Amino acid sequence: MTAALLTIDLDALARNFRFLRDTAGVEAAPAVKADGYGLGALEVSRRLLAEGARTFYVARLAEGEALRAALGGGPVIQVLDGPTAGSVARLLAADLTPVVNSLEQAGRWRTEGRGRPVTLHVDTGMNRLGVTLAEARGLAGWGGVELVISHLACGQLPEHPMNGRQLAVFREARELFPTARAGLASSGGIFLGPDYAFDQVRPGVSLFGGGPRDVADDRIAPVATLEAPILQIRDVAAGETIGYGGAFQANGPTRVAIVAAGYADGVPRGSHPAGAVWFDGALRRMLGRVSMDMIAVDVTGCIAARPGAMVEILGANRLVDEAAAAAGTTSYELLTRLSPRAERRWIG
Ligand SMILES: *Cc1c(COP(=O)(O)O)cnc(C)c1O
Repeated sequence: MTAALLTIDLDALARNFRFLRDTAGVEAAPAVKADGYGLGALEVSRRLLAEGARTFYVARLAEGEALRAALGGGPVIQVLDGPTAGSVARLLAADLTPVVNSLEQAGRWRTEGRGRPVTLHVDTGMNRLGVTLAEARGLAGWGGVELVISHLACGQLPEHPMNGRQLAVFREARELFPTARAGLASSGGIFLGPDYAFDQVRPGVSLFGGGPRDVADDRIAPVATLEAPILQIRDVAAGETIGYGGAFQANGPTRVAIVAAGYADGVPRGSHPAGAVWFDGALRRMLGRVSMDMIAVDVTGCIAARPGAMVEILGANRLVDEAAAAAGTTSYELLTRLSPRAERRWIG
């Protein structure tokens, strides 16, 4: 290997899908927006389809069109952005189901949507997308609504009082559409108990190896492994510095591996100074700033370190939540910022 390699374990993805579905006890509809959280929307969705997924969520219209082309007819593809101005013809052409988020979008779909079914997003307190409960009352009886959804602001925090408040509002909202199905939970919400399951859950990050509570969770299988080769080994004397800004100064003789992955491959620049990678059976700290194309790693005392040896930046030994926390970010951002420069391989 001469460059960073991102391996995506589709069997691990399938295990996570089954675990999340069985925990919820209802339909699990994968969220595969942002290119399947960076792991390849088309590849992961094909596998999830084979595992029984029948509904997929994307954010953007173009994501939905690409997914329809890859999956063919059959599965429901929900577009969270909804029927925005100028998008209806394309939504219809690709047989995509828009998620209606406002009265404006509702009106547009009622006039232009040729009677095709929609999903209605009711905002229950997050104040992001969705119609208010009062607005939903005005839409009550709209037969085109086949599914009512909402989204939890604090689903990853089981004790947060916001969850119960949103649940109460959502129950009122769904009663306005008695023939429609309902869905509230994403990865975090799946673990809030059966009251939150309704008819469908929408897991995203936990399909892809991220814990449902923003910390590593051993019930979730790691899916992505990011490795990169050592380019060079160097011995640094006490007092010397490493990398841009001289941000790390050795306080003793230090053996350093220069590894061929940097922020342009998706290693967060914020990994300095707390970052670490797994190599030869141990976590080894990153030294100095993350460069565009490389990082420096402390391999003092490690005889296995030589050019060409592969270092694990993310994977079973360095979980995505741990790497994210060390960089001051979340598994969501870390995964979706993995870059196409790292070669991607899907296994399983
Ligand atoms: C992204 C998203 C999801 C998936 O959330 P995770 O926390 O990744 O499980 C579900 N529903 C909506 C509306 C989303 O935007």
